[in-house]
Amino acid sequence: MEALYFSPMLLGINLIFAIAFAATALWRMSRPMPAPRYWMIGAWTLVLGVLMFGIFISTRNPALNIIGNLLQLCGEAIIVLGVFRFIGRPVPYWILPASVLVFGSFNLHYWVYAGNSDLLMTVYAVVAGLLPVQAVWLLLKLRDDPDTRPARLLVGVCLSLYSLVTFARGILAWQAYASGETYVQPYESFSYLLPYNLGIPALVMGFIGMTLMTMQRILSDSRTNAERARQSALRFERLLNVSSAGIAVIRDGRISDANRQLEALLGIPRETLLDSEFSQYAKPRSRSLLLRTVHEAGGELVDVDIRRVDGSILHVELRVLPLEDVSADCIAEIRDVSHRRTLEDELKRLATVDPLTGAMNRRYFNSLFSRALKRAARHETPLCLAMLDLDHFKKINDLHGHQAGDEALRQFSRYCERQARGTDVFARIGGEEFVLLMADTSIEGAMIILGRLREGVAAMRLHGSQGMFQIQVSAGIAQYRRGDSMESLTQRADKALYEAKLTGRNRIVVAD
Ligand code: GH3
Ligand code: MG
Ligand code: MG
Repeated sequence: MEALYFSPMLLGINLIFAIAFAATALWRMSRPMPAPRYWMIGAWTLVLGVLMFGIFISTRNPALNIIGNLLQLCGEAIIVLGVFRFIGRPVPYWILPASVLVFGSFNLHYWVYAGNSDLLMTVYAVVAGLLPVQAVWLLLKLRDDPDTRPARLLVGVCLSLYSLVTFARGILAWQAYASGETYVQPYESFSYLLPYNLGIPALVMGFIGMTLMTMQRILSDSRTNAERARQSALRFERLLNVSSAGIAVIRDGRISDANRQLEALLGIPRETLLDSEFSQYAKPRSRSLLLRTVHEAGGELVDVDIRRVDGSILHVELRVLPLEDVSADCIAEIRDVSHRRTLEDELKRLATVDPLTGAMNRRYFNSLFSRALKRAARHETPLCLAMLDLDHFKKINDLHGHQAGDEALRQFSRYCERQARGTDVFARIGGEEFVLLMADTSIEGAMIILGRLREGVAAMRLHGSQGMFQIQVSAGIAQYRRGDSMESLTQRADKALYEAKLTGRNRIVVAD
């Protein structure tokens, strides 16, 4: 028992335990780096092997001796594999089964044929000593990782020392075997105690080197990552500002980043934009559309109206996309389309309006007429259509000139629009032919309206080249009957107008 107090073997075992614990801590804090995992597994395999060997000494169970030896060898091999992994070289996993095979067969031979333990030791030393050689070679010649060089040197030197000690054990054992010395208990031989005195301390130093190597790698990686992040932030900023559109990064509905174009678009400095609610810049009627577009972030283009800081309204095209797959940030592109919208509005206006008088044109009138007819049919409400035609207009042109005729058409049109009620539809459908569609109006009501209109027109005073002149209008009114189409109702009103013309003009005639 006393011998154990100063036993280098016990100290060695404890040191291997310490390495295993430290390797576990290193693995935990350096995740997901792969190499420390190998070192941890290798160290614990070594611990297991040494423990088995310890139990073998007291129990003399040969199976424990074989398994313990093999586990120790495997532990060493796994630590070496970790070095390959750290350097980024292909890991030569084959050394595991190869070591087990070579050393295992000798181990068996020793126990089955009661061979010499020194010969067994020699074989073990050769296999275990050769394991780190290639790793040492790789560690020392690596060029492209200058940061870890000092730590690599330390690991290289320590593993070399470990190899040398192991080879020395082999030589000592071989000498003992060759000289035919009497059999010694394995744990009493010098070649067995050599590793506990020198090999394991070298392994401890090597492990410290591996820890330094790992730390240095983590440090360099984080420096590289910080630089990469800085570069990518810079690039992102440049990208934001290179776009001709206003761009905002949106997080939880608030602007977390904005480019200069957005500042210009809204007339608000960037500092004020940051952290402000994005939807507040939309006009109230565009707000829900904007919120939905941001929420969906589907990249779809929508038109929204935005209020600038000076109160003016800007028509913009908005597209929102997620910034990354992982975060909830999204990026909104805001493009000023006021010019396009003005053109569209103008086109829309031109498509519905008669250019000379500004009254509704025939095409647009027809679409409203069709709708009004359907409504009247569904709700059984009265509907009247009046066809209007200026009397002897050719003469007015002849007498006062075409320009005066044009002006007369404009004035007539303006007057009729003023007289029409909000629900009436007034349109120019031909040269000097107009219509007035009166919804929810009985024939009596229509007659009153048209009568007033006729009198008003007759009272208008117009100026032409030959002095002042007047115009007159004739009209035919038809009331909607069940089953009427646009054509049939128009035909009846036309017929009434024709009759008004025939019976003296400046008259209103109701279709029978
Ligand atoms: P009535 O309807 O009473 O039978 O006689 P009218 O002279 O009005 O007859 P008609 O409908 O045949 O002639 C319409 C005239 O209106 C012919 C054309 O010179 C004139 N006119 C049509 N469009 C315009 C226009 O845009 N500007 C001007 N100045 N005249 C137009
Ligand atoms: Mg006419
Ligand atoms: Mg006419």
